[in-house]
Amino acid sequence: MKFRHQKELAQEILSREVGYVRKPHANRLRVALIFPNTYFVAMSNLGFQTMYRLFNDQPDIVCERAFLPPKQELAALRDSGTRIVTLESQTPLADFDVIAFSVSFEWDYTNVLTMLRLAGVPVRAADRNYTHPLIVIGGAVTFVNPEPLALFADVIAAGEGEALVPALLDAFGTSSRSEQLKRLAQARGYYIPSFYDVEYNADGTIAAFVPREGTGAPPIVKKAALKTTDAVDPPSTTIFTPDTEFGSRFLVEVVRGCANLCRFCWAGYNYLPVRAFPTQRILDLAQAARQYSSRAGLVSIALCDHPDIEHILRSLKDMGYSISPASLRLDDLTPTIVSLLKESGERSLTIAPETGTDRLRRVINKTITNEEILNAAELIFSSGIESLKLYYMIGLPTEEDADLVAIRDLTVQLHDIMLKHARARGRIGRIVASVNPLVPKPGTAYQWLPMTASDEIERRMKRMRNLVAGIDNVYFNIKSERHSYYQALLSLGDRRIAPAIELAEANGGQWQGRRRCGPRRRLLHLPRSLEGRGVAVEHHRRRHEGSVLPHRVRQGNARGVDAAAEARQGKRAPAAGALTGHQAIGPIGPSGCYRHDSRRRLRASQLATADCASCSA
Ligand code: SF4
Repeated sequence: MKFRHQKELAQEILSREVGYVRKPHANRLRVALIFPNTYFVAMSNLGFQTMYRLFNDQPDIVCERAFLPPKQELAALRDSGTRIVTLESQTPLADFDVIAFSVSFEWDYTNVLTMLRLAGVPVRAADRNYTHPLIVIGGAVTFVNPEPLALFADVIAAGEGEALVPALLDAFGTSSRSEQLKRLAQARGYYIPSFYDVEYNADGTIAAFVPREGTGAPPIVKKAALKTTDAVDPPSTTIFTPDTEFGSRFLVEVVRGCANLCRFCWAGYNYLPVRAFPTQRILDLAQAARQYSSRAGLVSIALCDHPDIEHILRSLKDMGYSISPASLRLDDLTPTIVSLLKESGERSLTIAPETGTDRLRRVINKTITNEEILNAAELIFSSGIESLKLYYMIGLPTEEDADLVAIRDLTVQLHDIMLKHARARGRIGRIVASVNPLVPKPGTAYQWLPMTASDEIERRMKRMRNLVAGIDNVYFNIKSERHSYYQALLSLGDRRIAPAIELAEANGGQWQGRRRCGPRRRLLHLPRSLEGRGVAVEHHRRRHEGSVLPHRVRQGNARGVDAAAEARQGKRAPAAGALTGHQAIGPIGPSGCYRHDSRRRLRASQLATADCASCSA
């Protein structure tokens, strides 16, 4: 593909967009912001859109976007050796001061490498020098575990964008690359992997991250997070285009975090404290966006924790929006909220029972019961909503065969409720249930839990498939064991898995399947290929309380609530009836229960003490 073609394609895309920014480059820090997936996926990503706005809000920064080209274009660029350019000014990426990646999905790690190659920049940080742009990698995945990307990044940004951008600009006030890195190493939320040596135990687990002398790197990098959302605009769609997954939907974050602290939930632990965005700012942004969009997507893991949620839903409906929530927490569904969603045109809702028994739900610190789930389903289907999406997990601590059977039974009961209301309406919806194995995510109460062995996961998945075969109008999406194997590798691995990412990238981004090998094609078996190169990958599944975890280098969050305390609790008392996570974390407010205090702070006028099922306050 020729440069001219890239330019024409970029102009075509820009002609369909509203809200992009063009600024002169002179005397500004030039940032190329990359989403390592296609334009179609990227422009529906609120984190990516927010970083674009935050960079360009700074008068001294000009930020332009670049994306992974679609397959044919990608092949044409590779074949012709043409360097990839940004969308706004069609400038080659290598001409920018900073290439900043916003990575939301672990599966996109291979695309990070592809984008660096298309930019003409060496993929490994050790092969780059001051003539290359500074490669900064951030996004949701670096909150979880930055280590798999450590050898590819000059800088890893761990935290919320609002709190990160000023420090980056400040670091570029210094002259040399090494001074820039040293200054960033002092800033909250910036991790410079090359400033640390890693020592390993004989069993392959990590013994220590040792900051190198003279770098000024701290032993623990703390995440950058906003203390309060009172003075900031909520993240929302700023560029509207019809060419995305969600069309020209207006996406807005309503409340950040969730105080429920389910033991497995990375988002719950990592976005504490729970912070609601100001109601009027949400509504002002929605009003301004109404001329470009008639659909509003509310992005929050605990939407109903916003103190004014009913007012927000009603106001959006009055503006003429149809409303889609990302997901809903069952214990927050009220008849008013369900009917507001139905009236605004929603036909399907998503809920997460996680498992089929109350006992196992208490183990994972999810306090809802089957009875409450069935009552919620009654409420949902009786309101006229037709379909339901469910999330379940398997491989949980203390899980028995009866728990798998219970997933089937609960789904069948939900299906019966759906049918009862569908008959009356004369139209049947459907239930889609996703079943995923538990990957004990870093930073959660289960961070030291070893991942269940692959053959056991395979056995339980097979059992699950047999249990649910042939239920009408219910579609089970049960992931393969290999899928969870690679998912765990990317979530739990450290910098030693870098060769695995390189190998998968060389295989066209495929983690398994056929790869070209000379004139013939053969099956890629990643663990075997890596062992052939002397790279062991199994260490990522091993955990013990004394071992240092790959992500420990950037532990800590805005409130200083450390998942480690809860992890010890979760490990000591995994059976039903153990202390709930909110109590185990320790007294951080008047009641001593994190959830209770968070909710009381958020909705002082509404929360009666009896509302909190997790404590006796
Ligand atoms: S309810 Fe539990 S699983 Fe859902 S967002 Fe909150 S902490 Fe996470």
